[in-house]
Amino acid sequence: KYCFARDKIILTENATLHPMDLAVIRGYGIFDFFRVSNSKPLFLDHYLDRFINSAEATYLGLALSREELSQVILELIDKNDMITGGFRMILTGGLSENHFSPGKGSLFIFAEELFLPSEEKYSKGIKLLGLEHVRPLAKIKTTNYAYPVWHSKIWKEAGAEDVLYHQDGMISESSRSNFYIIKDGKLITPSKQILEGITRHHILELADMKEIRDLGMEEALQADEAFITSTTKVLLPVVQIDNHKIGTGKPGPISLDLLRKFRNLENELVS
Ligand code: PLP
Repeated sequence: KYCFARDKIILTENATLHPMDLAVIRGYGIFDFFRVSNSKPLFLDHYLDRFINSAEATYLGLALSREELSQVILELIDKNDMITGGFRMILTGGLSENHFSPGKGSLFIFAEELFLPSEEKYSKGIKLLGLEHVRPLAKIKTTNYAYPVWHSKIWKEAGAEDVLYHQDGMISESSRSNFYIIKDGKLITPSKQILEGITRHHILELADMKEIRDLGMEEALQADEAFITSTTKVLLPVVQIDNHKIGTGKPGPISLDLLRKFRNLENELVS
């Protein structure tokens, strides 16, 4: 119903974007996305940190301070009577004099329906399609997902849920989530060419034994378990990469235990 557009809260249907905004003509902008549960934003401090860092890293000025952003978000949850849902914050590249240099970004914060994976995906696990690629500006949450959007047709045709990006044999992440394996009880996740997920941060805190380091495709195929994490998926077990079965071919016990611990943490935070 209501969103924040540039400098005030308005009806979402009245929000507009100039067609010459750099977000439109150059695909330049940043965003973030968090969930709301029991009318409370989950891990908001972490998402605000990342959003503010992305804005700085892309030379886009944010008109609102951290406290003002927080205030607006709480007001939007209230005005939209939101109990469960998601919010997207976008800072566009803005209007630019030469249609190229970063301008003064326009800020939008709006409620969004959650597209959650089906229960079957958690109980049976998913397949990833390996693909040679590195996300440009991987550490920054830019709005540029042209490549994965374009490529989604191919992974769907292959019967996969998503992709697993790798370059020179080394894994980075999936299109919108981080990737992990479990080997001999230890959690291993790549350190380079990734977006540092907020879910990843908490999963790493919940894991007993862990290594954050380079992870090769060969090593991943020999894993006992594998999974991906993201804000909307939380933790989805991976049971197949290309034509290779991972572990027993079923979601693994350590993965499922981490999922349960993460859900408990969330419930504690919003109860
Ligand atoms: N990697 C990429 C490229 C993403 O787009 C995302 C998700 O939003 C993630 C990882 C996972 O991050 P988070 O757990 O903060 O949603």
